[in-house]
Amino acid sequence: MSGLHLDGIHKSFGDVDVLHELDLDVPDGTLLTLLGPSGSGKTTLLRIAAGLERPDRGRIGMDDRDVTDVPPARRNVAMVFQGFALFPHMTVAENIGFGLAARKTPRAEIRRRVEEAALLAGCQHLLDRRPGELSGGEQQRAALARGLARRPGVFLLDEPLSNLDAPVRAGMRADLMRLQRRIEGTMLYVTHDQAEALTMGDLVAVLDRGTVQQVGPPEELYRRPSNRLVATFLGTPGMNVLPAVVDGGQLRLGPFRLPLPRGVQPGPRVEVGIRPAAVRIGDPARGEPATVELVEVAGEDAYVHLRAGEIRVVAAVPARARPQAGDQARVAFDPDDVYVFDADTGATLGYPA
Ligand code: ADP
Ligand code: MG
Repeated sequence: MSGLHLDGIHKSFGDVDVLHELDLDVPDGTLLTLLGPSGSGKTTLLRIAAGLERPDRGRIGMDDRDVTDVPPARRNVAMVFQGFALFPHMTVAENIGFGLAARKTPRAEIRRRVEEAALLAGCQHLLDRRPGELSGGEQQRAALARGLARRPGVFLLDEPLSNLDAPVRAGMRADLMRLQRRIEGTMLYVTHDQAEALTMGDLVAVLDRGTVQQVGPPEELYRRPSNRLVATFLGTPGMNVLPAVVDGGQLRLGPFRLPLPRGVQPGPRVEVGIRPAAVRIGDPARGEPATVELVEVAGEDAYVHLRAGEIRVVAAVPARARPQAGDQARVAFDPDDVYVFDADTGATLGYPA
């Protein structure tokens, strides 16, 4: 077992900088989810870790050794790609054993490892089929088993579930987590899906334009995001971000007044962040008058778009208690649930109490 350590990785393609002096540690036996929008450099980072791409600067550590100059085949890694990339003319068993056969592993040993990997990935009943005879989820299990058969120290997974239908994806997500815990694998799991990143990761790293914005346990990133980007990227619907003025120890946003969280200096231009679940509607004794502009129902929850003066916010409420578009409502913000950001840099200046 080993951890994965990326140290000062820089990569540009032509004159486009894709990764900026990036540091990232995946501790031994940890599943770290790397979350970032499309184009943020996730795949490039994985390819560098796998040795398929060379960084312009920086070092890669694995197995407690520097592997920056070690070719992919001699790194102790397996990579599972976004597409499943199985060989169509081979059976599942042959696909799983392909890397071992290429390395001249004895046949009995290949068979043992293929069976073990297939069992772990839940495709032991599919070994004689060809990829064309498998569903998307089954193909992904076969691709996972192929990676497992190598018994890698580090697992690199690039959006492995993104081609699957939602119910299959949810099942595979849980299976993958169980599998990771069972083999105590070191996994770097790339996704652009914030829910997937938060639910799966022991640690989550948020990547934006080639820079890691924050790394930590999912709950810490959700509760204490270090900047506006991390704050708005996590959670559905996204956090409301509203322009505000610091005015005599208070935050003024449109008609609303909120106490200034401790530690926030009255000075910089600020924005206030409020998660939709912290927007209260309906209590006639509290809050400012607002108009319901739009209601989205998503199963148990409803997302209520409101306008109060020039302020627009989204509230998340139980669908059963939702108002109708056109209704008048009272809106209040829970003062203990307010984030304050520097409007210019995006840095978090104040957290909820
Ligand atoms: P992600 O996986 O987060 O969507 P990528 O790592 O694939 O992002 O790409 C990051 C940026 O690098 C994109 O702007 C992409 O166009 C660019 N890029 C990736 N690979 C190459 C390449 N081989 N040549 C030129 N540009 C590339
Ligand atoms: Mg990608």
